[in-house]
Amino acid sequence: MLEHGLVLTGPELVPMVDADVAVEDGIIAAVGSPPAGWTPDERIEAAGKIVMPGLVNAHTHAAMTLFRGYGDDLPLQEWLSQRIWPAEAKLTAEHVYWGSLLAIVEMLRSGTTTFADMYFFMEEVARAVEEAGIRAVLARGLIGLDPAKTEKDLAAGVEFARAYRGAAGGRITTMLGPHAPYTCPDGFLREVVAAAAEEDLALHIHVSETRRENEEMRARTGKTPVAHLAELGVFSRPVLLAHGVWLEEGDIAVLARHRVGVAHCPGSNLKLASGIAPISALHKAGVTVGLGTDGAASNNNLDLFREVRLAALIHKVREEDATAIPAGLALRFATVGGAASLGLAEKIGQITPGFRADLIMLSLHRPHLVPGHDPISHLVYAAEGFADVTDVMVDGEFLLRDGRFTRLDEERIMREAERLGRSLVG
Ligand SMILES: [Zn+2]
Repeated sequence: MLEHGLVLTGPELVPMVDADVAVEDGIIAAVGSPPAGWTPDERIEAAGKIVMPGLVNAHTHAAMTLFRGYGDDLPLQEWLSQRIWPAEAKLTAEHVYWGSLLAIVEMLRSGTTTFADMYFFMEEVARAVEEAGIRAVLARGLIGLDPAKTEKDLAAGVEFARAYRGAAGGRITTMLGPHAPYTCPDGFLREVVAAAAEEDLALHIHVSETRRENEEMRARTGKTPVAHLAELGVFSRPVLLAHGVWLEEGDIAVLARHRVGVAHCPGSNLKLASGIAPISALHKAGVTVGLGTDGAASNNNLDLFREVRLAALIHKVREEDATAIPAGLALRFATVGGAASLGLAEKIGQITPGFRADLIMLSLHRPHLVPGHDPISHLVYAAEGFADVTDVMVDGEFLLRDGRFTRLDEERIMREAERLGRSLVG
């Protein structure tokens, strides 16, 4: 049981002072005061700390940590075709395993307890997740450009989703991951949708990331990417839509009518000069919004607190309105919003009895968090995940306790990632 903390409760993250959180069998049993007659196994002092839901990174490519700092300051298409894709062609299972572990160390240290990943060698990502104790929603990235390979790829994507659904004691769920409308031809996307319907899976896909993507889709089909995907039946499935930078008014109405969560990735969108997604309009239209870091090659940091801060800042500029995306809303994007966009709204993202005990603690004893006028404001505008997160719990188990990993060998992971990262470039 965590005692005497400043606990942010429920979907609205309502602060409760001097509150306890009782955890039993991986589940939050009570908030405020423990259930009558209940004796905790362990009492953990949380005085001077914020206790809040673990953050949800709604879109990343974990193993891309190995490309961090390789090929910065290039436009998206050039960056992908000249730097990332040639380097990715050298990836092995070993790279993805250690690169994912490095990402997980980084995410846990900065307060992320769940991440949505789309990549290759996903069995290795799953192995890293299983060992690390974190929660993840995994999809094998599907690219339909090579007709000789597409059938096999789709079969492998479905096979992975089937085999790992509910793995790691329920911490892993799966989706199908068609990469993007411009890398997946129409016929292929229709097959992916059919497979998703048959297997009851959601889709994780990049959409309208750049102006160029929208222009090319319009030239080919006369429609926006969203309108085109709607026609192909993509939104008949729940969809985790990454980026959505160039969504138009009609697109937003389509998304609002379907089970869609938009993974907003402000850091990546800024760095690649993709643009600023219309998040205020999406939120007003009732579309679920989560926050993602995207891969570390285009960010270059997996601290989701940075994305929360960016989300609260850049829309004020876009809208020329200081009240746009207030702090509390930005923080809810990273918690309940992320959970909902991953199909986990009933399970994680809030400190509420009955939810899985995925929570983090941050020390308030930091110069940049004094005086304590408003914890939500501090978390959004002043906090830093790496500096301030002291403890991380997933499914009721501490993975980081007083700044130390309980399961992972952080030094070894950094060493292996350094070695393997070097082997991919040059
Ligand atoms: Zn991405």
